[in-house]
Amino acid sequence: MTVGMESSAASGTRSAPETVGHFIGGQEVAGSGARAPIHDPATGAAARCLSLATPAEVQQAVAAARAAFPAWADTPAIRRARVLNRFLELMNRHRDELARIITAEHGKTFADAQGEVTRGIEIVEFVCGAPQLLKGSHTEQVSGGIDNWTMRQPLGVVAGITPFNFPVMVPCWMFPVAIACGNAFVLKPSERDPSASVYMAQLLREAGLPDGVFNVVQGDKAAVDAVLHHPDVAAISFVGSTPIARHVYEAGARRGVRVQALGGAKNHMVIMPDADIDQAVNALVGAAYGSAGERCMAISVAVLVGDVADRIMPGLADRTRTLRIGNGMDAGVEMGPLVSRSALERVHRYIGLGIEEGATPVVDGRGVTVPGCESGFFVGGTLFDHVKPSMRIYREEIFGPVLGCVRVRSLSEAIDLVNDHEFGNGVACFTRDGNAARDFARRVQVGMVGVNVPIPVPMAWHGFGGWKNSLFGDLHVYGEEGFRFYTRQKSVMQRWPADTRHDADFGMPTAA
Ligand code: NAD
Repeated sequence: MTVGMESSAASGTRSAPETVGHFIGGQEVAGSGARAPIHDPATGAAARCLSLATPAEVQQAVAAARAAFPAWADTPAIRRARVLNRFLELMNRHRDELARIITAEHGKTFADAQGEVTRGIEIVEFVCGAPQLLKGSHTEQVSGGIDNWTMRQPLGVVAGITPFNFPVMVPCWMFPVAIACGNAFVLKPSERDPSASVYMAQLLREAGLPDGVFNVVQGDKAAVDAVLHHPDVAAISFVGSTPIARHVYEAGARRGVRVQALGGAKNHMVIMPDADIDQAVNALVGAAYGSAGERCMAISVAVLVGDVADRIMPGLADRTRTLRIGNGMDAGVEMGPLVSRSALERVHRYIGLGIEEGATPVVDGRGVTVPGCESGFFVGGTLFDHVKPSMRIYREEIFGPVLGCVRVRSLSEAIDLVNDHEFGNGVACFTRDGNAARDFARRVQVGMVGVNVPIPVPMAWHGFGGWKNSLFGDLHVYGEEGFRFYTRQKSVMQRWPADTRHDADFGMPTAA
């Protein structure tokens, strides 16, 4: 490695650059567009700035990817996997540096950021076995002297547009799979925490990835739209909020390119009367307030069945009040700040709205300050009881540490409640009754289900995706579905006749 933040990873001495730019054709590019501030959420200070890509810079990145694609697609899958294997080694070696970058720009605790990097690394581990997943299928002798086989081939230039809340893991849901399949990739990360993407680009270069196979363009809506409408972009993966996911999906559909667009969430955790209440409290606070609720798999609704509400509320309130809030880099901190001032203002508005709508504010997290970080974007854990399905704080995604409790009488009522919600990303059921759990998992209209597991993010080989307004498109990210998304099937039928004298046959060919 020669330049930029990768040197700091190796030596631990150099600081991040003042301006975070693009990575195009194997080179850091400062960019000529407008600049936007990148904040440290713990202090509220503008820590560095971001170069916003111009349409010409997006064009340049797609052109670099297009130029790199043919040779990369022609590289045997096992050799592509070896490059990813070296990348895996580098990701493991620089795991803590990546985690530090995440905490500095996102705000989540360092331990949580380490966990995020680990979940990203698991996808890279998985794609090192790409040749197995890319091999086709073959049938000999489908008719006299004829064999038929299918193969999967890469698409070309594919793009990924990612959200702020997982600046390493969510890009890793996409680019390792796409690259393993033989595509060239253009990543447009979130403008709030863009540095990790450039760092990973540098690691890929060090791993021996040919220039142009992986590119990063920074920016906001203008950069996204330039990617969406570029005629050379053959597929788009998106993760973010539902309105933008729908916009991306529609724009892709208009051009006839494949899109997987993962959107927002409102994840419920159903607690049955037979559940272990202490275990449920711990699961709820971790899943609701971990990463300040800024996870697409965060639990934001507790569905309390029967007498659970009265038994769980004292412990839940106590644990919510005593959350250790602070700078994510400080030891012992359980919850860091929100990502931005606008996120803080949005969460404050929702807490006010919940009170206006008549929910009971058991713990109100507004007004929290952290000594030494008075201008940071902190809000405390917030707990509402008696939330009703008609309330906006129930229907809408708040994306902050706000947990709403809904009281219901039965498991059936709980399942109906979950199924009536517009989102269907994740859900959990806490119970000691195997039959109730089985019934729940079968009937619930949600893509990812946990039984006594609050955040059931599937492993790398299973694939991730929600239902309803949490996903537009039919294939989940990573896992085998990821390999299907980034490749297209070709069927070949072949005959090598010894006797070339055949009469014309005007009938539909059959095996008969
Ligand atoms: P966001 O939708 O604001 O931004 C996502 C991406 O879209 C970013 O790269 C951003 O630059 C771009 N973007 C923003 N506004 C745009 C516009 N008007 N036109 C085109 N592009 C635009 O999301 P966010 O705030 O970064 O992330 C939080 C959201 O992501 C939450 O809704 C969360 O639930 C969701 N999310 C979902 C999943 C999932 O797997 N379903 C995972 C992570 C996050």
